[in-house]
Amino acid sequence: MERVIGIDLGTTNSCVGILEGDTPTVIPNRGGYKTTPSMVAVTEAGKRLVGHIAKRQAITNAENTVYAQKRLIGRKWNSPQVKNSVMTSSYTIVEGPHSDVRIELRDKTFSVPEISSMILQEMKIVAEDYLSETVSKAVVTVPAYFNDNQRQATKDAGAIAGLDVIRIINEPTAAALAYGFGKSMDQTVAVYDLGGGTFDVSVLEIGSHGVFKVIATTGDTFLGGEDFDARVIDWLVQGFSEEHDIDLRKDRMALQRLRDAAEKAKCELSSVKETEINLPFIISTGRNEALHLQRALSRDMLETLTEDLCQRTIDICKQALDDAKLDRDEIDEVILVGGMTRMPAIQKAVSDFFGREASKGVHPDEVVALGAAIQGAALVEEQQEMILLDVTPHALGIMTFGSYFEELIPQNTTVPTSRTKVFTTSRDNQTAVKILVMQGESKQADENELLGEFILTGLRRAPKGEVEIEVTFEINTDGIVSVHAKDLETGQEQSIQVTATSGLTQDEIKAMAEEAKDYLVERRTDEKFEQAKQEAETLIAEIERLFPDVERIVASSDFGKDAIGKARSVVDKARSAIERKDTEEVQEHVEGLARTQRMFKGVVSRAQ
Ligand code: AMP
Repeated sequence: MERVIGIDLGTTNSCVGILEGDTPTVIPNRGGYKTTPSMVAVTEAGKRLVGHIAKRQAITNAENTVYAQKRLIGRKWNSPQVKNSVMTSSYTIVEGPHSDVRIELRDKTFSVPEISSMILQEMKIVAEDYLSETVSKAVVTVPAYFNDNQRQATKDAGAIAGLDVIRIINEPTAAALAYGFGKSMDQTVAVYDLGGGTFDVSVLEIGSHGVFKVIATTGDTFLGGEDFDARVIDWLVQGFSEEHDIDLRKDRMALQRLRDAAEKAKCELSSVKETEINLPFIISTGRNEALHLQRALSRDMLETLTEDLCQRTIDICKQALDDAKLDRDEIDEVILVGGMTRMPAIQKAVSDFFGREASKGVHPDEVVALGAAIQGAALVEEQQEMILLDVTPHALGIMTFGSYFEELIPQNTTVPTSRTKVFTTSRDNQTAVKILVMQGESKQADENELLGEFILTGLRRAPKGEVEIEVTFEINTDGIVSVHAKDLETGQEQSIQVTATSGLTQDEIKAMAEEAKDYLVERRTDEKFEQAKQEAETLIAEIERLFPDVERIVASSDFGKDAIGKARSVVDKARSAIERKDTEEVQEHVEGLARTQRMFKGVVSRAQ
């Protein structure tokens, strides 16, 4: 049976898991790390870098290194969140052809799902290397608060990466799955998830028969670790400006270094009380004199700088309990997810609010990928014993006369579900009605997300208000929305499946997927070459080291001279093949080099 991987596609880091037998396991990448930075870069030579290697060069190549693109996925160009990112990112964000968002790296423009696909592809490679088999199916997690366009964009990212995303599940649901997996319990749990870019909190019931029911979920897609970093950056920039009257924000490289230093200091302050931020040669003055930045930051100061952010998460927790109609003491367990929950002030605020310590049994960085892997396995196994009941994170409805939003399916309704409502026409002799399908919580339609639209035509002519149209909304388990409209008198009807859009057309996705395939072939070839090169170079170094001794020992004999000549020739040929990047030839020479090395070693050891 084909294996399904679970991917936690995080704002800051991503993680991939698999169910091995009965054990959910996180798959380490080649460097041995269990998480991979969600970063993509393009080098001057046009080479694509993903993960740790992208992060390592982020400072020197800030303009061509993308981070936190999850904040942009599935969003429209004119959304306030995008505007915010355009102002604060070190890479260039531009408007795409479908009012979507694109990112410029070197001389190429990429869509956001394309950037995400590069990370998904990397996670696919990590899993394939570990399993020694091709992986083509995945369950990918998203914040519970993602709307349909953001979910669709994540699915498209999977398609570009060559992955069939068989299910998108919510991060907190995945966390609860990992927490409750294999245990027999009847509990109400709260999942508090504060990651690099997003925050959400969900309340779930875990039933003893493997039923995971989400009761309420709420959050903020623009509240996360980066906002905490930003406070530290502001503090550093302001201090520097007061001292030197120079705005460090104007220098992209300085800003990237500040960003790194701020995050590092924040993380350190989770385990120590005070840390030093030291950035030598941060900027040069107009007079060509280099300035350094050096400041001590205490945990107390960090807590003061970020107090309101911490409080905002607690307000959202209150909201979640209200939505779930539960009191704090009805929560049996609190599960912390996301790197930011290592901050002591966060842990304290959460335990003060819920009146209990959070669960220690789950690893905040790994739990989501593990849950996704569990769900992935359950979806392909016939005898699955797990039932997952999720809710719609946003209300669904239509725009009515006067630009009002008329809600049909409220927020936090368990899916699958369907609702019907009768509307009347607003104009005399109106023969057609345009139905705008929207998602969101605002009473003002234009403040919500437009999911799709269709026109119901052929209505009978009648004075306004006389034609009654019955509108039915349906959401299936995959979160796909379909809408059905019917003129109650004539029976005239029409329906659409609302396909949320990532801002990409099917053709664009196909073309991008082809490019991703080419990249994979190129990457695999590169890897083979690197491996052969490394083997050859190690052997060459060893042979070179032994050369003087071997020459001394055997140079007097014709046989020896011949052997040395041959050894030189093998080394030269291998070097030339390395220079020409001819993988096959290098691989062929590795054998000859290994023979020479063995022979040299033998000569030297016999002479001793
Ligand atoms: P995630 O999206 O779950 O990978 O969370 C990443 C966020 O957690 C980033 O903002 C990190 O800076 C933050 N983070 C990671 N480790 C720590 C730590 N020890 N203390 C505070 N924040 C951390």
